[in-house]
Amino acid sequence: MDKKVSIIGGGLAGCEAAYQIAKRGIKVDLYEMKPEKFSPAHSNKDLAEIVCSNSFKSNLHTNACGLLKEELRLLDSLLIKIADETAVPAGQALAVDREEFSKKVTKNIEENPNITIIRKEVGKNKEISLMDLAQKGIVIIATGPLSSDSLSEEIQELTGENDLHFYDAAAPIVYKDSINMNIAFFGNRYEQERKKDEDVDEWKKKRHNQEKSYINLPMNKEEYEKFWNELVNAQVVELHEFEKREIFEGCMPVEVMAKRGIDTLRYGPLKPMGFTDPRTGYRPYALVQLRQDNKDATIYNIVGFQTNLKYGEQKRVFRMIPGLENAEFAKYGVMHRNTFINSTKLLDNHYRMLKNNNMYFAGQITGVEGYVESISSGLVAGINASMQILNKDLISFSEYTMIGALSKYISTPNDKFQPMNANYGILPELEGKKISDKKLKYEKMSDRALNYIIITKC
Ligand SMILES: Cc1cc2nc3c(=O)[nH]c(=O)nc-3n(C[C@H](O)[C@H](O)[C@H](O)COP(=O)(O)OP(=O)(O)OC[C@H]3O[C@@H](n4cnc5c(N)ncnc54)[C@H](O)[C@@H]3O)c2cc1C
Repeated sequence: MDKKVSIIGGGLAGCEAAYQIAKRGIKVDLYEMKPEKFSPAHSNKDLAEIVCSNSFKSNLHTNACGLLKEELRLLDSLLIKIADETAVPAGQALAVDREEFSKKVTKNIEENPNITIIRKEVGKNKEISLMDLAQKGIVIIATGPLSSDSLSEEIQELTGENDLHFYDAAAPIVYKDSINMNIAFFGNRYEQERKKDEDVDEWKKKRHNQEKSYINLPMNKEEYEKFWNELVNAQVVELHEFEKREIFEGCMPVEVMAKRGIDTLRYGPLKPMGFTDPRTGYRPYALVQLRQDNKDATIYNIVGFQTNLKYGEQKRVFRMIPGLENAEFAKYGVMHRNTFINSTKLLDNHYRMLKNNNMYFAGQITGVEGYVESISSGLVAGINASMQILNKDLISFSEYTMIGALSKYISTPNDKFQPMNANYGILPELEGKKISDKKLKYEKMSDRALNYIIITKC
């Protein structure tokens, strides 16, 4: 077996992984299909192409993505270093000169004596297939949200048909502590409802023991109609041509469903059947459900609200739902073309396959979402592939760090898994007295994370 690692995909995750392995003295073959073939969103022949916005989000210590970048800086991430070097003015955010960034990453990788770049598409019926590489040794698959069809076919054979997805239809996720629990109530459909003739006191007692996995937000007629009116008129994101063809076949955005008629949502995701509003004692006119999204129950997703609304519009319109008036969003809803595996069943927290120790995944294909998150998974997969070759213990990043929390999130069983970006809701709560000042709370969580990174440094 080769003491060499093959990486498929020279994007953000693949380049970071290649650098982490090469700097530990191990040879890497990096396969990139460009310029032989381009995905529908790529157009530049350089590696680590930034396909859309040039922003790597906030640099602030009290922002989840800012924390993730700081952790990556401490761990010697090549891509974040180059992002800092090619930054353009963007206030508190880190935005890069796109061309300059990719050029510099490419030069760095090309000049690395341990890395060989092979400009070929890997995939079924191609000159080199995934299975050919797997026979040679460790492989990291980092082909991103637009992995080529030939490789997707091989990945599907590896993972099973139901565990490779081709688009992302995610509903927004809100922080539990930003939900108004004077309006919201816990409980499952039909179990929470007061039965005909049921004693009110008995029912109230029962309500205290309600299951906490669903939070319910009742609406009266006026509230519902106001919300509906704003929803159908809200601004949506323009999809790319290639996305328009495929996305809506399987899953309808909430705003599109709403446009079918004023009551359509009340017979769909907002149906009030099986609930009693504790404030009135009656069934509400409509009801929005939130489902627990992580083990610690700090974040909840809005059930059935996969959406294409612009982020600002999601905040404005979804905050009209009673109980969400001050909601903080851990993640906005998205619907776009996105190839990703069901990591929660397939990977461990080193981004390594549970059933094949020589196979790692990295980047957006693992279900992390975003540029910086993709870099972070490339770093973890790269470090651990190196540890495996060097016969050392693999490194698990603490769940108190953003890097560790992301790897834990994507590798923890979750039958409603959807891609996740960095946010404070996936970190464990602080110990001790609850801190209500958000900024202070996030600052303390960030300090704790950075201390753990310093301890783990490898
Ligand atoms: C249209 C679009 C817009 C996005 N906009 C943003 C944004 O604004 N902000 C943000 O944070 N995130 C955004 N993302 C999400 C994500 O952060 C980026 O896609 C990011 O580049 C993912 O990094 P990656 O390394 O996983 O994949 P990529 O950077 O896409 O790299 C994958 C590489 O693999 C190559 N490849 C694919 N198949 C093969 C094969 N069979 N053989 C060899 N090479 C192959 C590709 O050519 C590519 O170079 C966007 C995604 C898409 C699709």
